[in-house]
Amino acid sequence: MKFSTKTIHIGQKSDVSTGSIIPPIYLTSTFLQSSPGVTKGYDYTRAGNPNFTNLEKTLSSLELGKYATIFSSGSGALTAIASTLSSGDTVIAVDDVYGGTYRLFKQVFEKFGIIFKQINFKNFEEIEKNFKLRPKIILLESPTNPLLKIVDIKNISNLAKKYKIMTVVDNTFSSPYFQQPLSFGADVVLHSSTKYLGGHSDLIGGAVITNNKNFADKMHFARKALGLNPSPFDAWLISRSIKTLAIRMKKHQENALEIVKFLKGNSQVKKVYYPGFSGIVSVEFKLSLSQTKKLISSFKIFSLAESLGGIESLVDHPASMTHASIPKKKREQSGLHDGLIRFSIGLEDKTDLIKDLRRALKLLTIK
Ligand SMILES: *Cc1c(COP(=O)(O)O)cnc(C)c1O
Repeated sequence: MKFSTKTIHIGQKSDVSTGSIIPPIYLTSTFLQSSPGVTKGYDYTRAGNPNFTNLEKTLSSLELGKYATIFSSGSGALTAIASTLSSGDTVIAVDDVYGGTYRLFKQVFEKFGIIFKQINFKNFEEIEKNFKLRPKIILLESPTNPLLKIVDIKNISNLAKKYKIMTVVDNTFSSPYFQQPLSFGADVVLHSSTKYLGGHSDLIGGAVITNNKNFADKMHFARKALGLNPSPFDAWLISRSIKTLAIRMKKHQENALEIVKFLKGNSQVKKVYYPGFSGIVSVEFKLSLSQTKKLISSFKIFSLAESLGGIESLVDHPASMTHASIPKKKREQSGLHDGLIRFSIGLEDKTDLIKDLRRALKLLTIK
């Protein structure tokens, strides 16, 4: 079955008891037991719910994995993954890892003895040197945020296998429409469903997908034990949103390509970062910090807000917003300067988006 057919038909079965085409929302905390311990597969929503199962079927199918576990957020998914580690274990991540991931490991899990290290995954010598230290997990993002660097998931996860290291890929920025990391040899895929999977900026969610049964069991255990479950309503909303994932991602890309073309031709632009797919475009302008702040506050269609991946276009200033939890020196080392702006290109008409950009840039030159 092809991708867009899966988004509409896997985990999206009509309700057998009523014939309702759309699966109902199971807003319940608990489930009837016919005798103690005898259930129809569910006992308590923190542990599981039919809306979770439906979405998990869809996600595992789209990511080419056997098992999926959904969570309250992408951060909840990362917490579940981190909870499988023990004191003394090391995690090695990409150097410009998502700000919240950095904060979670540095400010929470380091207290419990988990070592968090970031390296440049472009340098194979550095990779191999670090793999010899036997980290338990490597945490990749590709493309990275906000500099949109591409990481060679295939070669890195192959090398990791030799050292018995588990490769985890945060696939939030690509969505399974553009990239399925398990097919490149990664062991685990994680998502912030808040972004492209949800796609409408109206919910928070997360997911972990894997072919490893033992790890999947640990994810279900972590959800139940740590209380990382989403609400059935949010799970249902993501299931609904996923039906349009393919068509949305195609349009995000189409619009982003046009914006990149416009920006590359503008004299106030220093550098455009765009990997060629998905809808995030980062731009370094030839502007001071105050001009940059003026620019991002003067758009009419691009809303100044954190997050990404929704139908509406957003603009973000990583240094003072999404990546503010990373120390300035560390930020600059990885190329994340104060003049960098990240656009999440939405599904509006591209001519309106370009008009908005042109107008805001022109305002800067008027004193
Ligand atoms: C947003 C995001 C997260 C965190 O997800 P939440 O749903 O906000 O908790 C993790 N990784 C990436 C790449 C993200 O963009």
